[in-house]
Amino acid sequence: MQRYISLNAGFLVVCTLLGIVVPSQAGRTTEAKRLPIYVVFTVDVESFSNGNPERDIWGRAPNEPQEHGIGRMMDILDRHGAKGTFFVNIYEAPTSGNDTMAEVCRVIHQRGHDLELHTHPGPMFDVFSMQDADPVKQTQILKRGVELIKEWAGAEVVAHRAGGYMANLDTIKACKQADIQLEFSYNMGWPESDLGREGLTENAPFVRDGVLCVPVTCYIQASAGSWKSMRFLDIEASSPQEVRKVVADLHANGVRTAVVMMHSFSFFRMGKRHDRVERTLDELVAGFVADPDVEVVTARQLYEIWRADPNALVGADYMPTTGWWMTYHRSWQRLGEGWKNIAVAFAPPVFLVLVISGGVIIRRRRRRRKSREAARASK
Ligand SMILES: [Zn+2]
Repeated sequence: MQRYISLNAGFLVVCTLLGIVVPSQAGRTTEAKRLPIYVVFTVDVESFSNGNPERDIWGRAPNEPQEHGIGRMMDILDRHGAKGTFFVNIYEAPTSGNDTMAEVCRVIHQRGHDLELHTHPGPMFDVFSMQDADPVKQTQILKRGVELIKEWAGAEVVAHRAGGYMANLDTIKACKQADIQLEFSYNMGWPESDLGREGLTENAPFVRDGVLCVPVTCYIQASAGSWKSMRFLDIEASSPQEVRKVVADLHANGVRTAVVMMHSFSFFRMGKRHDRVERTLDELVAGFVADPDVEVVTARQLYEIWRADPNALVGADYMPTTGWWMTYHRSWQRLGEGWKNIAVAFAPPVFLVLVISGGVIIRRRRRRRKSREAARASK
């Protein structure tokens, strides 16, 4: 993070010498810059629609001697003295089994990690997502989730994230009704989210209807003119370099929170090991825990901070940009993970070779034509 900050500081010095005012820096308090940024590692715990909790939550398979699910995620966080927030989709109990989902909740809570609520309500409430349900039903869904987590693990839910970020303004009100104080569904980088399209903030947390809404951190990975390609901090999709740069930029610009997300199956997607993603989590947690500008917290800890001081999370709002080079670099890091990465990685060198070859061919043709013309003229 220091490197990015020193680059940023250098840029500001040059701008100051040239008498240029940088608008995004204007009005920022030095106090906000000194405060650490709170980083929350969040995990959406769920099976796919066909439901295989052994594989998709625990990361177990007959041919795999080690687990690559939520247990491994907790191991990594614990190794660095950090805790994560696990949003559990308890609504898959009718397909995955009550005992299975209760065990998931108990293990997370007993290991001292933050057990919270994730809503894919379909199997229990006959509605695909929270934003498809009316306000009364949304409240019913949340209250049932709070009840079951209390019954199964003895834990009090303080935070909610809607499945697929498919929440709306009613979801925030429903959280208040269900006595859930924090909402983590706001994501500008997910086009299917009604809440994300409300334009309530970029990355700054905000309070609405008495609920603290903490956005999933978004950034612009590339832009051209008015076109922008947006991403959010998902450890499967973003490289460690991108996550670090985004968090450093948010901190430098006075934003108080950053939310990194993953799924219970991020290390073991469809039963296929993703060691790169495991290394990414390990590297990120180690780096952030050692960084004096960062404090790794859970949603529950964030709630305690906010409850103790309602102004503790008030800061600036900002949308970081990672740029073309980081996007391109990421595709080289993932060459073995699909044709899209191969296409993006090889497109610029292939384009360059084509341009150079074209130039050479044109020059040769011109030379030949000139020599033919010279030969005709000399006859
Ligand atoms: Zn989900």
